[in-house]
Parts: sequence; C-alpha cells; structure tokens
Amino acid sequence: MKSYSEWQALSETLSFQGQAYINGEFQSAASGETFPCINPSTEKVLTDIASCDEADVNAAVANSREVFKSGVWSEMHPRQRKQIMLKWADLIEQHKDEFALLDTLDMGKSINEMVNIDVPDAIDCFRWTAECIDKVYGEIAPTGTDTLALISHNPVGVVGAITPWNYPLLMVSWKIAPAIAAGNSVVLKPSEKASLSALRLAELAVEAGIPKGVLNVLPGYGHTAGKALALHMDVNVLAFTGSTRVAGMLMGYAGQSNMKRVWLEAGGKSPNLVFADCDIKKAAAGTANAIFANQGEVCIACSRLYVEKSIKEEFMAALMEEAKRFQTGDPLDPATTMGPMVDGMQLETVERYIRSAVEEGGNIVTGGLPEYTDGQGFFARPTIIDNANNDMTFVKEEIFGPVLAVCDFETEDEAIELANDSQYGLGAAVWTENLSRAHRVSGKIESGMVWVNTWGEGDTTVPFGGVKASGNGRDKSLHALEKYTDIKNVLIRL
Ligand code: NAD
Repeated sequence: MKSYSEWQALSETLSFQGQAYINGEFQSAASGETFPCINPSTEKVLTDIASCDEADVNAAVANSREVFKSGVWSEMHPRQRKQIMLKWADLIEQHKDEFALLDTLDMGKSINEMVNIDVPDAIDCFRWTAECIDKVYGEIAPTGTDTLALISHNPVGVVGAITPWNYPLLMVSWKIAPAIAAGNSVVLKPSEKASLSALRLAELAVEAGIPKGVLNVLPGYGHTAGKALALHMDVNVLAFTGSTRVAGMLMGYAGQSNMKRVWLEAGGKSPNLVFADCDIKKAAAGTANAIFANQGEVCIACSRLYVEKSIKEEFMAALMEEAKRFQTGDPLDPATTMGPMVDGMQLETVERYIRSAVEEGGNIVTGGLPEYTDGQGFFARPTIIDNANNDMTFVKEEIFGPVLAVCDFETEDEAIELANDSQYGLGAAVWTENLSRAHRVSGKIESGMVWVNTWGEGDTTVPFGGVKASGNGRDKSLHALEKYTDIKNVLIRL
C-alpha cells in the first residue's frame, strides 16, 4: 500500500475527463451544459461534467442500436469476445491506482477500501464474467422425437444502465460486465455525484478492442439523462441500482414507454441479529463494520441492530470499543477509516435523522450531530443510538449514513419478527454459534442475502440483490447474465 504522501502526490498528476463518451469519442453534451464535480473532503471542484439530456440519450441509443445490429460485437465469436474482455480487465488492473484515486476523490471513499475492495472486486467481476462467455450452453427441450426444440439465450439489444455513487466503479462493473459479455450494447448513465471512473472505464474498453459504441457513457442528472433513457422506446432492458424511490419511478417509465424489462437493485435497512450464544467480540467487530464501513453509505449497511437482552450490556461495551476504529479523516490517507459523506445534502440527511431519533426518544451513546465547518468537507460522526424501536422514523427509513439504531429482543421468534418488520429486504446478519439456529433464522428472514457470523462478504460467484422494496434483480454470478439475455425457442418439425 502506498503512503499518504504518495497518494497525495499521485492525485496531483491525475487528469479528469468529464465529457460524455459516445461512439468512442469524448464530447460535450449537445446543450453544452456542464455541472461541477466536487471533491467532498475538500469541497474543491475537480472538473466540469457534461450535463447530458434527452438529445444525448437519443444520439447514444441510436449509435448503440446501430452497433448492435451490425453484429460487430453481438455476433463476434464468443472466444474472441472473451479475450477482449480479459484484456479490458488487464487494462483496469494496469490502471488500478488511477481507479482507486478517481472514486476516492470523486465521492470520498477511503483509499484503503478502494485498493482492497472496490478495484480488485471490479477486476474480478470483469475476468469472471469474461470467462463465462464461451462456457454457457443452450438447451434442447424434451419434446417428442418428431420435433426438435432448441432453446437459446440471446442478447437483448440495447441495455440502459443507471448507477449510484456509493461504489461508483464496482456498481458500474456489476452492470456492464455481464451486459456486454452477453453481446449487448450498453448506454450507461452513472450518478451525477460520481461519474469519473465510469468514463475512464469506457475509454479502456475501446483500448482493449471492444468496438466503439458498445459502451456509451452519458453523465448527467437523473431527471434529464436518466429519465430520458428510462423512457426511450429503443432501450430493451433497464438495469438500475439506486434508491427505492427512483426504482419505483423507473417501473412507471417502462410502463409508459415500451414495457422494457426493468431490473432493480434498490435501497435497504438491513437488520443485524445478535444472539446470546454468539462470539461477542466477533459480533461486535462485525456490527461496527456493518454500519460504519464506507461511511455507512452502503445499501447492505446493517443499520438496525437487534441484540438479545441478556447480553446487551456486555455486547454494547464491546461495540463501543470497535466503534473507535472508525475515525474520519482525509480519505487519501490509508489510515483513514471514514471519509466524508458524498455531499452536503447527504450530510444534512444524516443530521436530520439523528435529530428525529432524539426527538422520538433515542439515546445517543456515541457520535451525534455532525460538526460541519464550511469548506472543510462533509464529515459525519460514527453514531450509535440506543433505546430505539421499530416505530421510530430513523429505524424505518434508509439513512445511508453512519447511524446505528440499537433495539433489543428476548426470543428468537421476536427477533425474526422485528427483523422482517420492514419494507426492505436486501441483507441481514445473524450472529450465533448455534448451527441449527443459524439455519432456522436465516431461512425465515425476508431478504435476498443473509450473512451468518460475518457481514457483507461476497464473491463474484454469489448473487447480490434483494426482495420486497429492495428490488427484483441479482447482480454477479451466472444469474446476472440472465438479466441481459432473452430466451428464444426454435421448434423444428422433423
Ligand atoms: P438515486 O436513486 O438517487 O440515484 C441512482 C441513479 O438514478 C443516479 O444515477 C441518478 O441520477 C438516477 N436517477 C435519479 N432520478 C432519476 C429519474 N427520475 N429517472 C432516471 N434516473 C434517475 O440513488 P443514489 O443516491 O445514487 O444511491 C443511493 C441508493 O442506492 C441507496 O438507496 C442505496 O441503498 C442504493 N443502492 C443499492 C444497491 C443494491 O445493490 N441494492 C447498491 C448500491 C446502492
């Protein structure tokens, strides 16, 4: 790992590209409009970003469609597509420090997390998905001997992808790697709060040999570029990661336009169940990670803690110790464990929820309201609020910041009921040394993912996604490829 001063020096040498990337060329938005890209730890402008809108979406989708129809990528031999995607992954690896810096400067994530999680996981996603291209088979249906029914998985055409800012490189990778591997063309709209790594990724795609127009990137606001993409009549599939509020809007846009398939990876308010028969030290460490990692700006953040009453005192003492590991600082410093919130609006959201928690009877046991100084970054404090219950606003709603609600329970059934009492169903953590309880509880929890005696661990081979208001799609694993292919059945009478 490079030192703080080495990362600082390297960041000075970076150049930022904020223009749209269409058909292999960087270009201004058709309107010529831009908006500033701000480093949230210094509040300084890094560069200007093209503010794309409907005109740019129309141009990009038309180009993507033309490239798809030409077959230059969609009909390329799978082995050749695989080789090119592997080269793309190699190029990302060759530029791994640059990618780490781009997201850290753009949205405030610690460089440590970028180097150890986001960048290697993104590279792995590209490599693993590329390796699948020439290993996925079709089927022959078990019809009678006088017919032959061939079932094949085919690219859908043009995929629109809309992504958030909290894991800019990784969330983009989880969408575009399988979509492109399957032979589609993609028009990507990254978050207006973190567009830089997506634009660089697109440039490297062309350098690796992916034909121009297979990946077009349109930075811009949700209500302009995002909405136009979601309403576009020539987009076949929409793949989204972001809030539940916007996810619902996208379903509406699809219905109002061409009934495009919409895959949603949306918000969460994940529960963390700590049973008396757990390893308290490990559970406390995991609980702190589950709410303070990435400043709590994590969809799977376990922001609702339910701890068994009989160990609550001992567990809380251990948790307070673990919380001390999380200290805010310059995210370029590898020692920093918590960077700033992505922007002033997100900091205000955190502040608003802490106020509402106290008004509704919560008791702050560490952290509290942010101490903001103008021009010195949007830093929140790791905050734990005890005396919480499921009726309180800050326990029901996603905060997307480092604020943990502490509730307790007495029986296993009560713990499960409290955990499931949420509109969301993304992830859940269960801490117990009792194997039967681990299976029983994880089976009954209403979520797409459950971690037992750990939190947030995954692998490219493992699907990622939720149920209920947390969405309907799965990123990663072979299941991700299903989102970007249509099934075709050709029946031949012999
Ligand atoms: P957001 O919903 O505000 O924005 C997500 C994307 O949608 C952005 O690119 C934005 O510009 C775009 N958008 C906004 N309004 C739009 C509209 N009207 N039409 C089309 N596009 C529009 O979410 P965010 O603040 O960027 O990200 C945080 C949210 O993402 C949290 O709720 C978090 O839980 C969720 N998230 C979920 C997962 C998951 O896998 N389930 C992963 C990461 C983040």
